[in-house]
Amino acid sequence: MTSGIHPKGKARSDRAFVTLATNPDYATGAAALFRSLRRTGTSADLVLLYTDLPDSLVNELCASGLRAVHVDLLPTSDDFNALHARDRLHGAAPFTKGEKPPFHTPLDNFAKLRLWQLDYQRVVFIDADAIVLQNIDRLFDYPEFSAAPNVYESLGDFHRLNSGVFTARPSAATFDAMLARLDQPGQFWRRTDQTFLESFFPNWHGLPVFDNMLQYVWLNLPQLWRWQDIRVLHYQYEKPWQQHAKADSLRVLIDLWKAHAGDGPVPDPRDLPPPPGAA
Ligand code: UDP
Ligand code: MN
Repeated sequence: MTSGIHPKGKARSDRAFVTLATNPDYATGAAALFRSLRRTGTSADLVLLYTDLPDSLVNELCASGLRAVHVDLLPTSDDFNALHARDRLHGAAPFTKGEKPPFHTPLDNFAKLRLWQLDYQRVVFIDADAIVLQNIDRLFDYPEFSAAPNVYESLGDFHRLNSGVFTARPSAATFDAMLARLDQPGQFWRRTDQTFLESFFPNWHGLPVFDNMLQYVWLNLPQLWRWQDIRVLHYQYEKPWQQHAKADSLRVLIDLWKAHAGDGPVPDPRDLPPPPGAA
């Protein structure tokens, strides 16, 4: 019986920023995320959890200094996997606010939980569809479990967390307790890891929304948008490297992501225009 996690190389720090990519699309996102993190001058390790990526791509990513950790998907039951299969989940809990890309497999999200098996004292997890605009090393001093609210439409959003940025303290005991809780007969987590983490950590600590600013705030809550405040920008729903229906209205954000993903200069966000509806 293997542990399901296969780190390459050694940890260089006791702290790590961790993301997940189970396919090349999310690896594209992860590469941009890590480039953005390096620009912040952090000394924490940068760790990519991955399942199915070609060796050539993993080697290319490692050459840029990150630590690649191969993981298996969680050993969940056939019933659990069927309930959380993409078509079944989209039918049972439709996404009415935005579109999930074709390369998004809900079941893969749960592999995030593998970070609790890592050999670090402190971890900050960040989704592969985010970029970091200012140093966020202070998040390592926040307790487990801290996350920002899932704000992108209205005040009601403050009831829920968004699992695109969170703080964790790896521990085998926590990981085992999570696995035991996750896969109970008939259990359905409608927003996968996000719903699960909210249930596992009912007393979650709140981070400022600026540590996980969701792209739809640009469209729906322009008053909340101030470039100088935003530390992590998270492209939930449609991804900036896809063609998609909202691309024209999110153009400023997409161009910023592309600058971070590329080799050219990156603009100072304070020089960018405010969202169209801002006062
Ligand atoms: N992810 C992945 N493969 C998948 C689905 C998700 O690697 O098929 C990872 C990736 O890090 C991604 C995160 O899980 O950023 C959560 O998914 P996503 O960001 O697409 O969800 P959203 O932020 O739109 O709710
Ligand atoms: Mn995301």
